[in-house]
Amino acid sequence: MESKKIGNRYIIRIDKGEEIVNILTRFCNERAIKSGKISAIGAVNEVDIGLFDSIKQEYHSKTLKGAFEILSITGNISSNKDQPYLHMHITLSNNEYNAFGGHLNTAIVSATCEVILEELNGKLERSFDENTGLNLFKL
Ligand code: FE
Repeated sequence: MESKKIGNRYIIRIDKGEEIVNILTRFCNERAIKSGKISAIGAVNEVDIGLFDSIKQEYHSKTLKGAFEILSITGNISSNKDQPYLHMHITLSNNEYNAFGGHLNTAIVSATCEVILEELNGKLERSFDENTGLNLFKL
């Protein structure tokens, strides 16, 4: 991973073999980034994506292996109990150019991942909501 800062944005290159969620969580931890937004494109060969079942209030997840383009990662950064909390979704395409995706749990880079992370000026916290079973924005 390499990065540089331009204004309030970080340009991050995540390299082959690195895991995207882990790298970005560590990045926010090390710089004490409390709120922000994330967008990225690239290529991965192993991903774990999830789907939240709002009736059962639980996540279902699936690990996929193969050649995938990251059409888009979009997400936000907040904090939960003073720890960085990254919420990201991913859209992928496969060798038939079909798109699919879900909540991003983990993704291993096969070639490169190009991230623009924008730090927002302020703190954004979350708290657990019993009604949905999710950690929602505390506004
Ligand atoms: Fe999600």
